[in-house]
Amino acid sequence: RRAAFAQLRGEAPVTADGHRVTLMVNAGLRDDVAALDLTGADGIGLFRTEFQFLVSATLPRQQDQQKLYRSVLDAAGDRPVTFRTVDIGGDKALPYLNHDENGEEENPAMGWRALRLALSRDGLMKAQARALIEAGAGRTLNIMFPMVSEPWEFEEAHALFEAQRTWLASRGRKMPAEIRYGAMLEVPALAEVLDILLPKIDFLSIGTNDLTQFLFAADRAHPRLALRYDWLSPSILRFMKRVTMEAQAAGVQVAVCGEMGGRPLEAMALLGLGIDRLSISPAAVGPVKAMVRSLDRAKLLEHMENALVRPQGSLRESLEGWAAEHSV
Ligand code: PEP
Ligand code: MG
Repeated sequence: RRAAFAQLRGEAPVTADGHRVTLMVNAGLRDDVAALDLTGADGIGLFRTEFQFLVSATLPRQQDQQKLYRSVLDAAGDRPVTFRTVDIGGDKALPYLNHDENGEEENPAMGWRALRLALSRDGLMKAQARALIEAGAGRTLNIMFPMVSEPWEFEEAHALFEAQRTWLASRGRKMPAEIRYGAMLEVPALAEVLDILLPKIDFLSIGTNDLTQFLFAADRAHPRLALRYDWLSPSILRFMKRVTMEAQAAGVQVAVCGEMGGRPLEAMALLGLGIDRLSISPAAVGPVKAMVRSLDRAKLLEHMENALVRPQGSLRESLEGWAAEHSV
């Protein structure tokens, strides 16, 4: 099987009825970029910039950040890379940042993390913005903000980046050809204000790891809860379908970058919701591509539409049955 997946490296992820799907990889370290060539992925849909911060004993200097981002872009060549600004805090506390300055956190996943931390420590965010903008000179730079809970947080982060761009331009630095800004949707509250957010963003990326945790109020790292909440439950699928339809109606590109998209059956369900951009772990590219190439997407869309009308609990069994019957 492994050899069969490797053979798919040069094949495009096109469904049996001719729909091109975009399969990208999640990455976080310079060496992860090798996965692009190994898997034949379309790009990096999520580059977790906090990894460099996590493996460092002190705050990485702006030049070192820039060096990493540039080497990632160089290695990716024509393939797009989406850099996510630091998602520190929560399960990724840094010893050299004083996370306890507002008191001990009882619920770090819901605490002072990601964009919340970055906006209040804006020196850190400004340095990262400069590093990214300089690294993206002459190219399209895709920037994504984690844990956006309300549209103003996106606006503030966007304004911070644009101010750094203006500053660097005034100093004669070479600018990116274009900067595209996106938000992660991983806090359920954001879904209720998409009408306000969508006109401001270039793309939306659904982070199913945190989204599931917050939708079910179930710790993503809790072993006793891991099997209890199914990614193929109607609540998640309906939620994501609503978000996807609203974003697509507004002309905003939607992707999924959580682990859910890396499992073939779950990825199939996502395609059935109309999502056709996935960013997944490199090991998942082969199996998901094989699923995509065996799929009649038009039939799947119809099946999912009906399956979500009056579901009796998780769709897992019925989707397994459908896949067995319909894959070519
Ligand atoms: C997510 O929450 O789904 C996600 C992609 O981000 P992370 O796993 O880094 O929190
Ligand atoms: Mg997340």
